Amino acid sequence: MKIVEITSVLLQPMPWVLVKVKTDGGIVGIGEAYHGAGVHQIAIDERLTKTLIGENPLDVDRRFRDMMKGMSASGYYQGAVMSAISGIEMALWDIAGQAVGVPIWQLLGGRFRDKVRVYNDCHAGKDETPAAYAAKAKEVEARGFTAIKFDIDPLPSRRDAYNRCISNDDIAHYVEVVTAVREALDSNTDLAIDAHWAYTPVDILKVAHAFEDLGLLWLEDPIPAENVEAMAMVKNSTKTPICTGENFYTRFGFRELIQAQAADIVSPDMAKAGGLLEGRRIADFADMYYMPMAPHNICGPIGTFAMTHVCAAVPNFLALEFHHLDNALWSNLLKEGPLIVDGYIATGEKPGLGVTLDEGVAKAAAKEDLGFFS
Ligand code: MG
Repeated sequence: MKIVEITSVLLQPMPWVLVKVKTDGGIVGIGEAYHGAGVHQIAIDERLTKTLIGENPLDVDRRFRDMMKGMSASGYYQGAVMSAISGIEMALWDIAGQAVGVPIWQLLGGRFRDKVRVYNDCHAGKDETPAAYAAKAKEVEARGFTAIKFDIDPLPSRRDAYNRCISNDDIAHYVEVVTAVREALDSNTDLAIDAHWAYTPVDILKVAHAFEDLGLLWLEDPIPAENVEAMAMVKNSTKTPICTGENFYTRFGFRELIQAQAADIVSPDMAKAGGLLEGRRIADFADMYYMPMAPHNICGPIGTFAMTHVCAAVPNFLALEFHHLDNALWSNLLKEGPLIVDGYIATGEKPGLGVTLDEGVAKAAAKEDLGFFS
């Protein structure tokens, strides 16, 4: 079997990037890349595609290396290039699974679980009151989710947009809204909070300390993630579990974080970090330190379902992110019925990826088609 063509499409309003890999045997693979600027164009850039055309798609890991070599001799890539490579890697796994007649999770080592727990990323809306947060939490919990997440982003009242400091009033507000959510939820429903790298260690630790008796699932990205020593200091200074990693690329990007045990939970985004096998490697690396993995994810249903194969195949999976509740395009892009049922995605038994893109729906949502529908 040989790869004969790589194409891509950029959808809207969410800029989801789908890639398609065609083979001479008629098997077609689909993947999704993280939606960074220009990723759909990089996926069909000749420097990538020339390493794939005419080659065997079943040698997935070798093709992954070749794609990195194609962009440079050095091999270690980050940013939009690695996002494009990640989407193509997913499509190669789809081809490999179809070729041998088994689901991707089987090729990744088999399953620890046949359904994958999804957590819903909530947004309270413009109403910043504790009651609004609590009402949103109850609404999402009633729809079957057993884990949810809210953001504590800088408030309009902040004194300075750049110094990462939090006023005492704003700290009190964060504690009030998160306490209201926690008290509104069933004790067995997990609650995570995302701070989006916005704060100083000393200030976010005041918040984390105030959260300690709430039993949070995690506090995510309390400070910028690139300084692992600073992250380790925060993690080692609070009983509130710390989660980070959504902007790290490949296992090499996670090496220092995991070896320093600078987080309690890692959150790789497989649509940018290197694809499915790289996701499994990051999970295995974290597992050597007994750290769970809770993948970051803002993909559409193709990328999300691709990630569930890894989530099923590693022991230390915790929960998979989901952002698109009540998004009609998310719901209509697949020919199958609702992907998420009572807060879980069933991994299924179908060969390859195991879900089918509705190309008519995708075509109607296409912002820029780079040969995907040809
Ligand atoms: Mg996040």
